[in-house]
Amino acid sequence: MKVEFYKHHLNEDDKKACLEVLDSYFLTTGKVVNDFEEKFANYMQTKYAVGTSSCSNSLFLCLKYYGIQANDEVITTPMSFVATANAIERCGAKPIFVDVEKDTGNLDMEKVEAAITPKTKAIIPVHLYGQMCDMKRLKAIAEKHQLPIIEDACHAFEASREGIRVGQLGDAACFSFYATKNMTSGEGGAVVTNDASLKDWLSKARQHGITKSAADRYGKTYQHYEMHFLGYKANLNNIQAALLINQLDRIEDYAVQRAAIAKRYDAAFAENPYIECPQALPDSKHARHIYTIWVNPLHRDEILGKLQEKGVGVAINYRPIHLMHYYREKYAYQTGQFPNTERIGDSTITIPFYPKLENVEIDYVIKIVNEVTSNLGSD
Ligand SMILES: *Cc1c(COP(=O)(O)O)cnc(C)c1O
Repeated sequence: MKVEFYKHHLNEDDKKACLEVLDSYFLTTGKVVNDFEEKFANYMQTKYAVGTSSCSNSLFLCLKYYGIQANDEVITTPMSFVATANAIERCGAKPIFVDVEKDTGNLDMEKVEAAITPKTKAIIPVHLYGQMCDMKRLKAIAEKHQLPIIEDACHAFEASREGIRVGQLGDAACFSFYATKNMTSGEGGAVVTNDASLKDWLSKARQHGITKSAADRYGKTYQHYEMHFLGYKANLNNIQAALLINQLDRIEDYAVQRAAIAKRYDAAFAENPYIECPQALPDSKHARHIYTIWVNPLHRDEILGKLQEKGVGVAINYRPIHLMHYYREKYAYQTGQFPNTERIGDSTITIPFYPKLENVEIDYVIKIVNEVTSNLGSD
């Protein structure tokens, strides 16, 4: 049997909406993007959403809005996809890593304040695997030091913690519609915010800093555009928005389906002494983006290989960013600096986890994971 690591859930409605755009003459950013932005902001319970080309660019644009530049420092987590820290590097600023909590993998708020210096200009928390960071605590720290919070919310569309959603305490929350995310158009992204001035800036910055989009220019009467500042090219297009817009009607159903699969995995691995799982907090609605198990670091790669041999799709989320060649070389990071992050990085294995998983596939994954982790070095 082969269980794919990921299968998207795009359906006939999504294809139909996409075909309607292809049959129209307007493929780039236009009405469908506007409609999607409105619906997405409504779902996220924020005032605004701006469609972009990726979360990477969303993070970068938000940092630019807050003026992040060379010699600035931005606090973030080393337990994330490299895109999070790379956005800071792209501004010429320095990512200041703070270790994560050992049980959740989320930024350890106890350690954030000690990392703040006069050079600190922003904080980027990541809601790892779909469970929110302690945003109340982070907000209090950020307010005290007058720092903007830009949430990397790629894993956390559906999450809440103590009644607070992503994007509500942060100044901005950034999302990705990359191929394996909970909502997808293959590639794409968005920023949600309650700040009208950030929203206005982003709408221009994603299109070279010009004042009128193509949709505005080709309306009833041609309108000249002005360029007020040097922007970028990072817009979401109508084809992507068409694929996304109906997924919002199903996103909560998918979250329920993933939660049910998580429950089965949890129960099946609870008795296995060779597996630990990240802690799910009681006061939190976990968006359950990916399911990772933690195994003995000494055997992780062996287990990884065996799972793959038996047809179980696997991934690593994540190897610590500070130990990636580029960061290690540039900032002389060493093993041992962020022990909780490194422990997770060395022990984690992500297994197949998506609404389309069939019962027989779930049973197979459980059987193989339990077998492989329990019979190490026996063949
Ligand atoms: C996927 C992901 C990103 C990057 O998203 P793109 O849209 O591919 O740029 C950034 N951060 C996290 C935590 C992610 O999972």
